[in-house]
Amino acid sequence: MKNEIIIIGAGVGGLTAGALLANEGNLIRVVEKSPYLGGRTASMIYKNHILDNGFHIMPFYKKSAIFSVFKKIGITSRLKLAKVDSIAFHSDSGFHKYPKGMGDLLQLSLIPFKSRIRLLKLLLPMAFTSIEKTEEWDEKSLTEITNKLDADTKAFFEAVCMLAFADTAEHISLGEFARTIIRANPFKGGTSEFAYPDDGGYDSISKVLSEYIIEKHGKVETKQKVKKIVIENSKVIGIILENIPGKEEFISTNCVVVSYPAYMALNQLFDDGVIDRNFIEKINRLDKKTAVVEVHFALDSKIDNRQVVFPVGDHYTTKGIFFISNITSSVSPPGEHLIIAGTPVDPSVADDPKKIKEIVQKMKHEISSIYPEFTESLLWERPMAWKLVESVVKEPGMVWKSKMPHQIPGIEGLFFVGDSTVSYGIGTDSAAHSSILCHPLIEKFLEQK
Ligand SMILES: Cc1cc2nc3c(=O)[nH]c(=O)nc-3n(C[C@H](O)[C@H](O)[C@H](O)COP(=O)(O)OP(=O)(O)OC[C@H]3O[C@@H](n4cnc5c(N)ncnc54)[C@H](O)[C@@H]3O)c2cc1C
Repeated sequence: MKNEIIIIGAGVGGLTAGALLANEGNLIRVVEKSPYLGGRTASMIYKNHILDNGFHIMPFYKKSAIFSVFKKIGITSRLKLAKVDSIAFHSDSGFHKYPKGMGDLLQLSLIPFKSRIRLLKLLLPMAFTSIEKTEEWDEKSLTEITNKLDADTKAFFEAVCMLAFADTAEHISLGEFARTIIRANPFKGGTSEFAYPDDGGYDSISKVLSEYIIEKHGKVETKQKVKKIVIENSKVIGIILENIPGKEEFISTNCVVVSYPAYMALNQLFDDGVIDRNFIEKINRLDKKTAVVEVHFALDSKIDNRQVVFPVGDHYTTKGIFFISNITSSVSPPGEHLIIAGTPVDPSVADDPKKIKEIVQKMKHEISSIYPEFTESLLWERPMAWKLVESVVKEPGMVWKSKMPHQIPGIEGLFFVGDSTVSYGIGTDSAAHSSILCHPLIEKFLEQK
């Protein structure tokens, strides 16, 4: 019988890796500690609405790494995607259209004409540079260029960063920003469009991938917590599951893929001394959490026809309002509408109920100031705070190749995928990209066996 590849975690990283490997004829067993698929993208049903764990959107639509995986394994028809391209800014002077391409920048009413020309001069060369060139800017901060801009243009950058990175310009590496601009450039084969599963729930992506792995004779098991990866003579020999404290089960395998944040896994899954301490410490430096406070609101009337609105200006706490029912009506029961508003926060805020409450109050006040009918339409609200939005920040020096490598030199049969590992892009796109980059390494290892 063929050796099973064990994948730890059923998020986008683990399941894209599993699907790519299953497609190549390997036997896959995914073990997930929680009762749900999707990891950070898990969804739930609440009062007949489909709620995601915070707002999730897929950058680069059909040019995304997730879509590439679906294409590679031939199942694109199984994932219907709704396009997210009705996006606007809201400033004190009203609504302004979000630019879909460089041409639109000239009509960007949000900022004065002179600033539009300046912006174009700045972004145009960036959009036509090479991915390799952007790596030279990985150590630089985006603020190196935005700090020289006028207040209006700076505010524009902040809104773009919020959409593309769910973060403020201060935290973004110039290299990562430039790669995003290139990938959004249609003349370079990219797209600036975004997507969301048409059936509702970002976890649809994980559900489809899981079904595919099972069809290929693999297993996807929830409520299976991995306690240890067992390594002997620098080779993986199996894993230990511990679902009931004290009751352990050993499963033999020569190949394990870890898909959850590497700086957690390296500190949890190995006996002391198995992994070089200096290596672990280097990876621990990637643990710089990005956090958000987000609130789902259900309304009994439609207050806007747009899909996404970015309030622009320092006086707004709310950095994004996502009209999820306008992206796909599948998320809400008839006659009701789901929106989610969010803002990035310091990670300490995510543990402070009083501060979260204050932020929610501010956001409600701000949304009412933009949409006076909001308050009377409100049926219920459901706030949440997330400390770990992405496994690594986009901070200068901590992007792309500085992330966790897919293999640890000297250890056989152990691989790492997920958003903390080498990949470009952010969030689910980076989790899927890591699988695209890692699965040939796993194939090579298996061939040598
Ligand atoms: C509020 C919020 C908003 C976001 N918005 C976006 C967005 O708009 N667009 C976007 O692309 N990304 C977004 N992200 C980021 C995105 O969710 C993550 O980057 C992505 O889901 C990471 O996938 P992953 O597979 O690498 O890790 P995870 O999703 O974390 O999956 C790892 C899995 O491993 C499991 N696991 C951990 N330990 C064990 C163990 N010992 N045994 C077994 N299983 C284990 C976990 O339970 C988890 O299911 C957002 C995240 C949050 C929290």
